[in-house]
Amino acid sequence: MTTPQWEAPTRALLAREGLEPEKVLRAMRRVDRAKFVPEDERDRAGWDCALPIGYGQTISQPSLVAAMIARLELEDSSRVLEIGTGCGYQAALLAELTPHTYTVEYFPELAADARANWRAAGVEGIHLRVGDGREGWPEEAPFDAILLAAAFRELPPALPEQLRGAGSRILGPREVGPEEQELTVWTVRGDGGLDREAWFPVRFVPLLS
Ligand code: SAH
Repeated sequence: MTTPQWEAPTRALLAREGLEPEKVLRAMRRVDRAKFVPEDERDRAGWDCALPIGYGQTISQPSLVAAMIARLELEDSSRVLEIGTGCGYQAALLAELTPHTYTVEYFPELAADARANWRAAGVEGIHLRVGDGREGWPEEAPFDAILLAAAFRELPPALPEQLRGAGSRILGPREVGPEEQELTVWTVRGDGGLDREAWFPVRFVPLLS
């Protein structure tokens, strides 16, 4: 396989943000993005751009997915919850980093697509629930990291309650104005409170309710 176009911008973004590139890049080399996009988008799967996946939803651009995953600093034992499975690409990358990967999708049809994509790509062991991700997945909590793949104004209150403790984090696109979103990181402090840090501006589809 030749080097995909997304690799250089991905390395550049990770370097700009001081994030460790090797773990996430290894995962991205193992998971073929072309297997996760609709057939008529396959030619563009190697490009660092978002692509439509149906139901008005999109698969994010690879460099952004890489930065979000690297920022979670996952270890083999980490439990991670993704909200917004979509076509299943990001969850497949998470599953390369930890066997404790959980994901929730709103549309049953997209959940079925994700399952078919994982099967075709030989990805196993991802736990998927169809439903409203704003509720998290209480039965499987606590999580070390929660990643939201759709934008919201207020952090859904059920989510921080499902974090393990100090150092656990939530990452997602927060709406801060009309047409304005900031990728935001919440980290649990030693005293149990939450620190919030605005990272950089992004553009995601809205979290459905
Ligand atoms: N992570 C995906 C892309 C996600 S696009 C990937 O790798 O392809 C955003 C996804 O969030 C869509 O699939 C959308 O259906 C889902 N979504 C939106 N609101 C949701 C909600 N309240 N609960 C669960 N999933 C939701």
